Amino acid sequence: MLILQLGGEMAKLNNVKYYKTVVDSSELGESCAEVAFVGRSNVGKSSVLNAVCGEKKLAYISQVPGKTRSINVFAASHGRWIVDLPGYGFAVGPEEERIKWREMIETYLLGRENLKMVFMIVDANVGPTKLDRQMAMWLQANCVPYSVVANKIDKISSLLLKERLQFAANELQIAQEKLFPVSATKGKGIKELAAEVRAQINS
Ligand code: GDP
Repeated sequence: MLILQLGGEMAKLNNVKYYKTVVDSSELGESCAEVAFVGRSNVGKSSVLNAVCGEKKLAYISQVPGKTRSINVFAASHGRWIVDLPGYGFAVGPEEERIKWREMIETYLLGRENLKMVFMIVDANVGPTKLDRQMAMWLQANCVPYSVVANKIDKISSLLLKERLQFAANELQIAQEKLFPVSATKGKGIKELAAEVRAQINS
C-alpha cells in the first residue's frame, strides 16, 4: 500500500464526478469535507480543475470571461467535494451582478462548516492583481484557510520563476509550502496540487 501511495498516479484524483450546480449556497446541503477553487476570470481555473481531476471536460472551459455565475460541485467520493466558485474581476456586466457575485461568494466562504481549504488561483506570469490581493486579505481577515495556485508557469522563463513565485507568496501573504506552482496546459505541478486536494478532502 505504501508503495502504491508513493507512486505518482496515486496522487491524482480519479473518478471525480460532476455533482450539482447551485446559485445560492444554502442549496448545497452538507458535505463531509470540501475544498473550493476561486480566482480571477480567465486565470485558468477550469483548466486547473480539469487537470487536477484528470478529466478534460469536467469543468467547462469558458470562452467568455466571467460567464459562469454559479457554484459547481464535483464529488471525489461520497460527501468529499471540490467546489468551483465563479470567477471574479470580470470587466463586463452590470454593477448589480458584481454585488450579487460578492454576496454569493462571501455567503459560501463564511457559511461552510466543512470547508477545509480555499485554493486561490492566480496567473503566475501576470502576478497577483489588486483583486487577488483583496481576496487574500479578505480570506485572512475572516480566518478562511487558503493556499495559492500560481498557474501558467510555462509562460515564465526558468531564470525568473523563483523570483516570481517569491513575489506572489509575499504579495498574498502565504508561506512557500502553501504555494503551488502549476501549468494546467503542460501538466506541471498538477500531481502535487492533486495530492494536496486529496489530503484536504480526506481530512
Ligand atoms: P477560467 O476562466 O479561469 O476558467 O480559465 P480557463 O481555464 O477557461 O482558461 C483561460 C485561458 O487560459 C484559456 O485560453 C486557456 O487555454 C489558458 N490557460 C489555462 N491554463 C494555462 C496554462 O497553464 N498555461 C497557459 N499558457 N495557458 C493556460
